[in-house]
Amino acid sequence: MNSKQTVEAYVTSGVKIKSYRLKEKLLDELLREPKCEECERKTWQGKSIPLDLHHKDNDHLNNPIDGSNWELLCPNCHAFKHRSYPWGGKKKTE
Ligand SMILES: [Zn+2]
Ligand SMILES: [Zn+2]
Repeated sequence: MNSKQTVEAYVTSGVKIKSYRLKEKLLDELLREPKCEECERKTWQGKSIPLDLHHKDNDHLNNPIDGSNWELLCPNCHAFKHRSYPWGGKKKTE
């Protein structure tokens, strides 16, 4: 087994998924572009934009390997997504 843990190995390993680690793996393995999927920004104030991995259904434990529950968002868009949820702006940070 390769010592480099793949996204697939990670989400199927049974360990508690940490969103920021999952995000790093997605970017590492070039499965996602390092840009906000909402506003398409890649940079912020001259630096690469900080990105959050957002779970579309707001369930951090729902990590299908096809990536259908994930969105990479800049902090602005991420906050906006959570404000638009009926259950309010609660953001669980991992
Ligand atoms: Zn954005
Ligand atoms: Zn989120």
